[in-house]
Amino acid sequence: MARVYNFSAGPAMLPQAVIEKAQAEMLDWHGTGMSIMEVSHRGADYMSVASKAEADLRALMAIPDNYKVLFLQGGASLQFAMIPLNLAQAGDTVDYFNTGVWSEKAIKEASKFCHVNVVATHTSAVPDRSEWKLTSNAKYVHYTPNETIGGLAFQEIPDVGDKVLVADMSSTILSRPIDVSKFGLIYAGAQKNIGPAGLTIVIVRDDLIGKARSGTPTMLDYKVAADNDSMYNTPATYSWYMAGLVFEWLKETGGLSAMAAVNQRKAEKLYAAIDGSNGFYANPVKRSDRSWMNIPFTLKDTALDVEFLKASKSAGLTSLKGHKIVGGMRASIYNAMPEAGVDALIAFMQDFACKHG
Ligand SMILES: *Cc1c(COP(=O)(O)O)cnc(C)c1O
Repeated sequence: MARVYNFSAGPAMLPQAVIEKAQAEMLDWHGTGMSIMEVSHRGADYMSVASKAEADLRALMAIPDNYKVLFLQGGASLQFAMIPLNLAQAGDTVDYFNTGVWSEKAIKEASKFCHVNVVATHTSAVPDRSEWKLTSNAKYVHYTPNETIGGLAFQEIPDVGDKVLVADMSSTILSRPIDVSKFGLIYAGAQKNIGPAGLTIVIVRDDLIGKARSGTPTMLDYKVAADNDSMYNTPATYSWYMAGLVFEWLKETGGLSAMAAVNQRKAEKLYAAIDGSNGFYANPVKRSDRSWMNIPFTLKDTALDVEFLKASKSAGLTSLKGHKIVGGMRASIYNAMPEAGVDALIAFMQDFACKHG
């Protein structure tokens, strides 16, 4: 069977070139006679893989020297707890934007560890500045730049003054250049835009490390991870290696500016197809705040949903079913989705609308 265009939200498509490279190296990594997943994480071979991945990520994102890059486990979901444990004490107030399902999960978890103030709630448009209720003494301000389920995205980094800004970039990291120096901490589960599941990237400013509240489990303390180069225990070695291959691929394809140009074009043409369908398809998000990565859309006649999914799958366009909370469809078009995949989806959607409209 030929490879399909896979629109899954995560784990998601990986670049074909990356999978091929991993396949070529699978049985015999660099003449060692072993797969890289069979070797010690403390050996020279693996250390070279790990440090190259970090160096490439630093180069791609222009990460300043006063930030640590951590390669952790537990997903973005574990960061929902690690962030308050490391950056706030029990009685402290922390500020959270609520722009959708992932924000809500982060808020719910943080509420176990400190007092959460919700800055603003809005799921179909980025909350207007005039609505923000920031707390003067908040230990940090958390937001979700790209809501993977609702398809809402902040196109600009919110200006929170000298507050520590924390971002869940799980579904938008590496999709465009960002100014890392504006953030105290950035985190992302790998399985959307970085590599396979099992790896979580945390980019954290030095001065925020070493302040975990007492009682924080060893494995949840950023300082332990930072002091041990993310190898206090055995890391997710194969996912880390695969992420390294993705970073190499990103560098070879022109880095994040080049990726951003393609991503913007892919998203704009898909939204144009939705908006130009005479109401056959619809997306509820304010136009200026729409995600480039996750594009939910509904069919006017929901009775056609099953047929849409069946026919799209037959056409080699898979995993378009929307999240159960939103219904309808969702096309996740991360870095690894070729523009030809979006073109194929648009052609399919137009044809489907013609047949059923
Ligand atoms: C997928 C996702 C998560 C959850 O990630 P896990 O790695 O499964 O814990 C959290 N936040 C956002 C924005 C996501 O897209």
